[in-house]
Amino acid sequence: MPELHPKLSPVFDEVVARNPGEAEFHQAAREVLESLGPVVSKHPEYADAEVIRRLCEPERQVIFRVPWTDDAGRVQLNRGFRVEFNSALGPYKGGLRFHPSVYLGIVKFLGFEQIFKNSLTGLPIGGGKGGSDFDPKGRSAGEVMRFCQSFMTELYRHIGEHTDVPAGDTGVGQREIGYLFGQYKRITNRYESGTFTGKGLSWGGSRVRTEATGYGLVFFAERVLAASGESLEGRSVVVSGSGNVAIHAIEKVQQLGGRVVACSDSDGVVVDETGIDVELLKTVKNGHRGRIVDYAEARGARYVRGGDVWTVPCEIALPCATQNELRTEGAASLVRNGCVLVAEGANMPTSPDAIRLLRDNGVAFAPGKAANAGGVATSALEMQQNASRDSWGFEHTEERLAEIMASIHDRCLATADEYGSPGDYVAGANIAGFTKVADAMLALGVI
Ligand code: GLU
Repeated sequence: MPELHPKLSPVFDEVVARNPGEAEFHQAAREVLESLGPVVSKHPEYADAEVIRRLCEPERQVIFRVPWTDDAGRVQLNRGFRVEFNSALGPYKGGLRFHPSVYLGIVKFLGFEQIFKNSLTGLPIGGGKGGSDFDPKGRSAGEVMRFCQSFMTELYRHIGEHTDVPAGDTGVGQREIGYLFGQYKRITNRYESGTFTGKGLSWGGSRVRTEATGYGLVFFAERVLAASGESLEGRSVVVSGSGNVAIHAIEKVQQLGGRVVACSDSDGVVVDETGIDVELLKTVKNGHRGRIVDYAEARGARYVRGGDVWTVPCEIALPCATQNELRTEGAASLVRNGCVLVAEGANMPTSPDAIRLLRDNGVAFAPGKAANAGGVATSALEMQQNASRDSWGFEHTEERLAEIMASIHDRCLATADEYGSPGDYVAGANIAGFTKVADAMLALGVI
């Protein structure tokens, strides 16, 4: 592990001491702190005002009981979380994740990442995240609805369009946002659509929001390639995952002339040399809530149960599943197979060792907080439309998304240059994201 700046080392020790056992949060915090050395050397005022220490401590954390009844009439119990991390730039903004792996450390890592990501979008949104250890797999629509209603019966008092604006993440899509918004509307007796993003089009949603994370990721990857005179045209691409981010990344890669040869889920990998049929994938995943094995069967493509998606040869890899899914072994196999770019669609999917291995071998690396910021950026556009009671067309919204991704890309590069790490997107994203929040925190006083 690289050494931390002497002023940042005690900050990291404090994060570990104050948040015992929260490995993912420690990892996310360490990664940002490793980039901030040159910033504290150049700007001692940030350390003097304890801005970095304050940033590592969430403004508010809510943990609550979520009881609900399953279809058999049995009482079930889950735990709900909302970590309101930083509101220097705007209302807390970030998704809700429903997955059995969710605990406070996961929510904190995601909320922490969200601060910098949201700052990078250039739009007025703070950082937060929430979720539950509820496992939606195998649950009926009725069970999911009752769970969402119970979850919102507590969460409603903590959120609002000027306070905290949740959206989706793993396990939370438009259906769940509908149930959550419905319960919020019922309890508050207000049609406050700006309190949620990721809504359906007929009830305040934005065009392109569903596609935004995946599309934005590919726009970003294209800019990275363009910086060295390359493009996506004719490139072979591997995408991990097969959820919303993965599906729309695949779709955009194909629109731009690339060929996606594999994708995956937690059970296995499909290898499809002729290119994934994204319409079929959507039907299997969204229409029937099916698995990759069902896609492979319907398509007649090769399915490897328990396979490792990173062993499939490709020039570009887009991890779009979950945290720490790409580790040193996977990274080594990407390097061996001649991969030139890894761009993260998921949050923190590449382990720190794997990032080092990729970069030591000359693979370009685009971190999630820059490359997957298109989702939350389009959420901010949804909030804009809600505030002005407007609804934009698809093309206009997609153009705004493309502009935002281009500007994030260029700012990462310019910032990396300014702080002496040319071409380093990790340093660029962390420093550019940080300085904007830190300046706002300084301006707002010790709060
Ligand atoms: N969960 C998404 C993310 O990781 C989107 C959050 C949002 O739209 O608020 O950025």
